[in-house]
Amino acid sequence: MVDLQGQYQQIKETVNTSIEEVLNSSAYINGPLVHEFQADLEKYLDVKHVIPCANGTDALQIAMMGLGLEQGDEVITADFTFAATVEVIALLKLTPVLVDVDAKTFNIDIDALKKAITPKTKAIVPVHLFGQVANMDAVMEIAKEHNLFVIEDNAQAIGANYTFKDGRKQKAGTIGNLGTTSFFPSKNLGCYGDGGAIFTNDDALAHTIRGIVNHGMYRRYYHDVVGVNSRLDSIQAGVLKAKLPHLDSYCNARRNAARFYNSAFANNTNIITPTAKSNNNSSCGEICDTCDCHVFHQYTLQITNGKRDDLHQHLLEKGIPNAIYYPVALHSQKAYQDDRYNEEDFPVTNELIKTVISLPMHTELDDEQLKFITQTILDFIN
Ligand SMILES: *Cc1c(COP(=O)(O)O)cnc(C)c1O
Repeated sequence: MVDLQGQYQQIKETVNTSIEEVLNSSAYINGPLVHEFQADLEKYLDVKHVIPCANGTDALQIAMMGLGLEQGDEVITADFTFAATVEVIALLKLTPVLVDVDAKTFNIDIDALKKAITPKTKAIVPVHLFGQVANMDAVMEIAKEHNLFVIEDNAQAIGANYTFKDGRKQKAGTIGNLGTTSFFPSKNLGCYGDGGAIFTNDDALAHTIRGIVNHGMYRRYYHDVVGVNSRLDSIQAGVLKAKLPHLDSYCNARRNAARFYNSAFANNTNIITPTAKSNNNSSCGEICDTCDCHVFHQYTLQITNGKRDDLHQHLLEKGIPNAIYYPVALHSQKAYQDDRYNEEDFPVTNELIKTVISLPMHTELDDEQLKFITQTILDFIN
């Protein structure tokens, strides 16, 4: 699915130099490279504060702790996503409220979101799934109207640029009160271990969160709030500092591969290809460079003739990696069942879990590989 080795070979010298810098300084924790990477990422994202932490799940948990949410507060998120998003809500004894997603973008459905709001709702967590920014015009409008916090789960869309209806552009993860990301190796900006970060333009929230990631300390050995221990280590920060300058070209390489896939499958009536259509602007429906709202963390097709599982097997036999993200809706997971959910409320997710299939997507795909993959699929699905 990804080619981390191929990518490493391209940037080996700078990455190794960064790692050696840490080894020679022995500043393994909180070393200078952590602060340098933090500053570089703040600049790249054009956001006031980046707070590094240990992984993307921690980032979500710490973001929710920072907002001071309390037991029983309802947090709305998408039914079709990786479990980390809902896991931390439940772990903090908040009440997760899962809602259906949009059939085109796989992102939180705006009507379903509106319907789920109650007097107990305190926050919305849009997930920019598969690299495409959710409809943030609508999410921010709803949040403002109902006085809700917005935490963007940006683990899959770092580098994406959201274009608002009025033409303003903002980097994914910097639009809500808080944004979170993961630097898991296979993410679009991945380190060589675990890592994550929280973004915000809010000085007070940033201050609160810097304490929470460090045992609730704002002064050494004075613990003002219950915190956690969540750090990005210096070696991982060094890897990320070396990789960040390549992020835009990595996003472009992914978009190019997506364009190849999209045009290869364009005329097949059994295959629905992904669109880039975050804010429902009529001008925004294609994979273009002016509207880079999709950075293709995953390239995900819908197979509509009931042959998805057969295709999955067939591709494995042909040696073509592929994966089903995600095979089970979160509302159907044992851990997250809730009597309040009705199957009729999740028509899109319930369909997607049966039709989606993700193809190899990374920065090192060449035309020959893409031709082989697309031809194998077209020969099978006809
Ligand atoms: C990967 C991911 C996370 C969790 O990140 P980790 O670093 O693995 O903890 C959270 N949310 C989404 C949508 C993800 O894809």
